[in-house]
Parts: sequence; C-alpha cells; structure tokens
Amino acid sequence: MYLRVLLCRALIACVCVVSFGSAVAAANISEAEPVIVVEGIAYSTWKEYFESDLVASGRKCGTMSKEMRDILFPDPGGQPFRNGVGAASGADCSSTSTDPNSNYENGFRWVIPVVVHVLMNDACGQGAMTDANVQGQIDILNEDFIAIMGSNGEDGNNSEIYFELATTDPGGAPTTGITRNCNTSWFNDGGNYFNTLAWDPNRYLNIYSNQASGALGYVPFLPADAGGTLVGGNSDRVVILHSTFGPDAPPSPFDLGRTGTHEVGHYLGLEHTFSGGCGTGTMPGCYSSGDMICDTNSESGPFFGNACAGGSVSCGTQDPIDNYMDYSDDICMRQFTVEQGRRMRCSLQHWRPNLGSMVPISGGDDIFADGFESGNTSAWDQL
Ligand SMILES: [Zn+2]
Repeated sequence: MYLRVLLCRALIACVCVVSFGSAVAAANISEAEPVIVVEGIAYSTWKEYFESDLVASGRKCGTMSKEMRDILFPDPGGQPFRNGVGAASGADCSSTSTDPNSNYENGFRWVIPVVVHVLMNDACGQGAMTDANVQGQIDILNEDFIAIMGSNGEDGNNSEIYFELATTDPGGAPTTGITRNCNTSWFNDGGNYFNTLAWDPNRYLNIYSNQASGALGYVPFLPADAGGTLVGGNSDRVVILHSTFGPDAPPSPFDLGRTGTHEVGHYLGLEHTFSGGCGTGTMPGCYSSGDMICDTNSESGPFFGNACAGGSVSCGTQDPIDNYMDYSDDICMRQFTVEQGRRMRCSLQHWRPNLGSMVPISGGDDIFADGFESGNTSAWDQL
C-alpha cells in the first residue's frame, strides 16, 4: 500500500520535473536525505515524508505543499508581474505574502473560458461522462465562486469570478468547450497529454478529468510560483479525478463537485488552509505565514471527514473546516473568505491577465483582458 502511494506521489513529482525541465528541481528530488518541513511537520528524509500519514491520508489533493513548491519552483526575484503593473502591486498575491486590498473588488466580474478535456481509457468506457455532467461541474464552480443563492454555495462569499465553457476554440471555430480522447496512458495521467491537448493556457482554463495520479485532483503549481514563469505553459492546468467530477459523481463523500472548486482555488493562487501549520494567527504576520490569508483561522493540519458542525480546534481557534481549501468532505465545504476572493482576483489580474474578461457588475461597456476575444456576456446575463 505504501509503495502504491509512493508511486502515485512520485509520479506527480515526476510530471512536474519533466514538464519544466528543471535541473534544480531534479537535483532536489533525487537528493536522498534533505530535512524538509511540510505543513508544519519536519521529516528527516524524502522517504519519511512520502511514507508519512500526511501523504497516506492526503488522497484528497495531490497539489504539492508550499514547502515543496518553494524548493522546486523558487521565486527568482525581480520578476515583474505579467501585466507589467510591476512593483506597486508586487506583494499583493506573491508566493510569500498577500495584500488583500479591497481595490480588487473593483466593480467587475471576471468571466473565465473553460475547456474540459475528458480522458477515457482505450475502450472509451472508464472516465466517460456526458456533456450535461461537464456543464454540471461548471455550474458548481459558479455556485461556489459566486455564492449563488439557493445553491449549495450560498453560504459563501461572492468572489465575482465566473466560469463558462468556451464557445470559441483557439482557431476561432465554434466549440462546445469539451474534448474527448480515449487513451489509457492519458487516462492514467501519463504521457504528458497536455502537450498534445492544451488550448492556449494563457487564454483558457484547461481542466482534465482522468485518474489524477491517485489523488482527487491537483494542479502542478500555483500561479505565483517561480515568479509567474510557469503560467501559460502546456502543463498549466487543473486535473480532477473523473469519479469526483460534476454533480453526478458517485460515491459520497466527494460527490458534490467540490474537488473542482478546491483545485480551481489553487489554480487562482490559494494555498491549503493548513499550509505551513498554525503559522502566525494575528495581523500582519498571518499575511506572510500559513496560507497567507488572515480571515481563515489557522489550522495545524488537514481536516478529514464530515463533522461539519465544527468543534475541531488545532491552533486555538475553530479550524476552518467549512473552507473549500481544507480537506473536509464535500458536504462540509461552504466558503471562500473575502480575503481569499481578493487574492484570487489579484492572481487573475497580475498573474493570469490574458485569461478571460472582466464585465461590469452594474452594466455598461465590457472590458476585456488583453488577448481574449469572446465578447460573450450571456453568462452574466443569465444570473
Ligand atoms: Zn489542495
């Protein structure tokens, strides 16, 4: 069992190393005996970490911890934000800190075009899903990110980030925003499928459904990693285990599509609520330790299960088990906080400036991000 977990995790690391061709990353991974602190717990060797309860129980999400990514994707420093805004906003949503300035709630809604790549085995049986189920996952993202009243996401905060299946492909042709491929290697999350299938990751959120290397889902990096230089490459993506995808995903407890919500949260720059352990619980230190967010309570490690009523205290306050960025069962996940919403909007503005468009919440002329063409505000009109 341990070997199996180790192989799954090693595969994730391998995907990243191969994808980015980083000699530094490869050297760090292959070195046998570093001391590493992950989620606030020290491990004397990589082997010890990979065989730890944290990894064994961490099937919830395969996104690497901040500590590992800091090693694999160090910030080179002096890197301007991709939209050229530069130092004035340089620390607002970096890999080391957050400044959740209210200016990020600027009267505009981000509208993000999505392409979903459905990967199945060679027989086109395992991993198959209907267009309706794919659309259902998009609907769940919107319920959770917009906190739509009457939906499962209504208890959260409205981040004004909206998702729609792409209506135009990279070549300008009409599309459903869904692709399907039958390839067992790709279904098993191998073969660097993204090099063949990705739609310009600067302009589209690429989501893949497959076996997700044994996790419920993962992203290979967060947008600010390595000074933002990884954004827009073919590997820039969200991966979701097919059996947790959409509203029809059996079985409980990962059956409400919140794996997608959690992973897209990473894609937009959010760490786990338990990242770095308890960290500093008070301002301003909480903006540069732990999950770099102050309005999420500190948490020493991931919360598992469905004890939604609370009562779990690991750092002196109620653990944020209702947050989409914890490991709770889907039914317990109910919110992004206000500051998490601002960090995600900052990440869009500064790290993913060509992804999607901004439409005014109160009507008026649309403002489109550089390089995106859609002009399609039908999604906004439907709300
Ligand atoms: Zn995660």
